[in-house]
Formats: sequence, structure tokens, C-alpha cells
Amino acid sequence: VEHYLTRIADHQHLNVFTDVYADEARQQADAVDHKLASGTAGRLAGMVIGLKDVLCYAGHGVRAGSRILDGFTAQFTATAVERLLSEDAIIIGRQNCDEFAMGSSNENSAFGPVRNAADPERVPGGSSGGSAVAVQAGLCLASIGSDTGGSVRQPAAFCGVVGLKPTYGRVSRWGLIAYASSFDCIGPIANNPDDAALLLEVMAGADEFDSTVSSQPVSAYASAQLPERPLRIAYLRDGIESTGVDASIREATQQTIDALRGAGHTVEPVELSLLNSLLPTYYILTTAEASSNLSRFDGVRYGFRDTSVTDLLSLYKKSRTAGFGAEVRRRILLGTFALSASYYDAYYTKAQQVRRLIRDETERVFAEYDFLLSPTTPTTAFKLGEKTEDSLQMYLADIFTVQANVVGYPALSIPNGTDPAGLPIGLQLMAPPFQEGALVALGRHLY
Ligand code: GLN
Repeated sequence: VEHYLTRIADHQHLNVFTDVYADEARQQADAVDHKLASGTAGRLAGMVIGLKDVLCYAGHGVRAGSRILDGFTAQFTATAVERLLSEDAIIIGRQNCDEFAMGSSNENSAFGPVRNAADPERVPGGSSGGSAVAVQAGLCLASIGSDTGGSVRQPAAFCGVVGLKPTYGRVSRWGLIAYASSFDCIGPIANNPDDAALLLEVMAGADEFDSTVSSQPVSAYASAQLPERPLRIAYLRDGIESTGVDASIREATQQTIDALRGAGHTVEPVELSLLNSLLPTYYILTTAEASSNLSRFDGVRYGFRDTSVTDLLSLYKKSRTAGFGAEVRRRILLGTFALSASYYDAYYTKAQQVRRLIRDETERVFAEYDFLLSPTTPTTAFKLGEKTEDSLQMYLADIFTVQANVVGYPALSIPNGTDPAGLPIGLQLMAPPFQEGALVALGRHLY
């Protein structure tokens, strides 16, 4: 704990932690010491972990990178966090992120952008940017983030660390501040696939507080092995051939494909006919869900309230206008539009139908293959400010990551070398639902 507290203090310029729980972490460490001495310590004894600022931890402020939650304190602890604590993990603090997990660069935080430790003039990715840099810069052993469309994997790729998005419903969302409920997944960011697997093992499983969580038994992800046969791996042709993908990323991905082939596995290209529909589908459905989820922040029930108001309606309007940042307001408007009576069928219903088609197409790929491989991102970390004026360019950063959330499948991002500027490159592996063990095993093999 002292080691990480010192490192956190030495890396303030990266703007990773919004709160550090120094004294509490020291007390937890003492308690773990005693348990270790008496042989009663849990599976995560001594693992020093940071939490993205969207996870509730009783008695602690939680702000989702937003002004609107100023002064709000969590009344209860997220199930995932509760499980980490019950296995004797130590929680060292709370990590900066894009406001309500909306963003791909961590520039949408009310607490200022996080900086990439590989080059502080560049973004760490988002929305779990603080959580990724915390691991990259050694400010904690692992982080817990959330992934609605890539928010664990994309920053992991930009920072050269490992990010695991589990199957939808594998980890309870109880205590996770909602962005888009049918997409949101809690997932670990770690130094290697085994740490990520162990954290998932502890967090996963049935929970009476989340009706969408799966009751499928949790297997031992950390010790999962690959089958003893050659694997069948598909890769996205666009990930290798599209000029929208950095040449260094295409080369690195190609080298992985060659190595897998060299080891006797079948690796074949596939094309997704709906690739160009992924982002529109994702952004219509997630903004629709967000506009509904975020209606609870009305200036009455949580955190920030504008006091210069004359009546209830102006209280709502002024509190929400001042409390939410520009990107969140944009998405609430987009989502409200997509759900409005006149446009519901043209946008929301249509996007739901396309979501089903994307799922069908993904199922067809996995009827033939064990894994789907692609770059995690089309570019390496970009400069701060480079895409803030152009939302569509920013949304393109998620082109390879959103599919897993649209269909609810698990996906893992692992480091795959660096570009000529020394910036990390990520490789993404996707597997069928509840095959996190296989994903970790292949990740470990390639890592
Ligand atoms: N970058 C994507 C978005 O802005 C994904 C965010 C996430 O996974 N929370 O919506």
C-alpha cells in the first residue's frame, strides 16, 4: 500500500485518481496481514485495486466523472466490489473516467483529462482511462472498470495493459452507475490475463440484486487451458486490410495471425456484412438507454442542485444543464430523439432489429470458429484535443470493440507490441458467451 501511495503521489500529473483512500487502505492492509498470519486470508489477499468512478462503495463519494453527483455518497457497495473485499482485496482509491462512461479519450471528465503514461500529450483512451493508466503506471496492481462499448478494452489497448469484458450478465451490475443497461459490463484491467481472470472469477456469478445476471456456474478462469486440438480462429478482414487502420497495427495483427498459423491453428478471414451498421446501432441504442437512465439525475434526488431556481421545472432544467457536461447532454438529446413518438420506429425499433441481425451474423461466425480476432482499435493513442471537435471521428475509435457489447459476447484485449513511436498496440479476442476461460487461455498463450 505504501509503495502504491508513493507512486500515486509521484504521478499526480497523469490525473488518474480522483480520491485516494490512504488511511483506509492502510487499515485494510493491516487486517490482511493478520489474516495471513492466521491462515484465514482470502484469494485476493494484498491485491491493491482501484475503482473506476462509476462503482458504488458504501460511505464513499461516487461521481461518475460528473458535476451532477457533487456531494453524493454511496449508500451501499456494488456486488462486484463487495466480492473483491470479501476476498481481502485492498481498495486504494477512485479513478477518473469519462462522464457517465461516455467517451473514448477520457476528455469528457468534469475532473479534467487523464494522460497516457507512455506519452502524457496523448489520451489514455476511455472511458476507463484512469483505470488503465493506473495499471500502466504501476499506481495499483489492477483496476475495475466498466465496458459498454469498449471502455475497458480500448483504454487497455492504448496503455499496453490487459482488459477483459465478460459476457453480458456474467458480473452483477448492482452498484454500477448505469449508462446503457443492456450493454454495461463490469470488467478488470490488469497487467496480465491471469490477474484479470482471477478478478473476474471473484466478481462473477448470480446475484439477487440484478435480474439480468446469469446463474451459470463460474468456472476457474485463471487456470483454464486451451483444448488439445488445433484452434479455429477467424479474423476480421477489415482489421488487416482497411486503410482506416494504422499500418503498424495491421502489421502487428498479421504477425499474430502468422504465428498462430505457424503453431498449427486454422486462421481464416471473415467479413461482417454489418460492420458499417455496428456504430450507428450502438450509438442509437446506448443513447436511448442513457437518456432514460440519466433521467433520475433531476437535481432533487442526487448530488448537485442549482439554487437559483424559481419552480420545479427550472430546478430540473438548470440543475441538469449545469450538472451535465456537453457530451452527456448531446447523448441525452440524441437518445430522447430516438425514443420520441414520431421517430421511435425509424430509429429505436430499427436499431433493435439490426442488433438482432448483428447477433445472428456473429452466431454464424462462431458456429465455425472458436475465436474472432481483430485489432482492439484502428489507431494507437491520439493526441489530447485531436478529436474533441469531431464526435464522429471520436466514435470511430470504438469500431472494433462495440460488436462484443451489441451481441453480449466476452472479449479480451492484450498488448501486441508498439508502433514506431513506441505507443502500445492492442489485440482483441472475442469468444462465445461464457467462454471467458478459453479467452484467458488464448490470451495467456499469446501474451
Ligand atoms: N467509447 C464508447 C462510448 O463512448 C464506449 C464507452 C463505454 O464502453 N462505456 O460510448
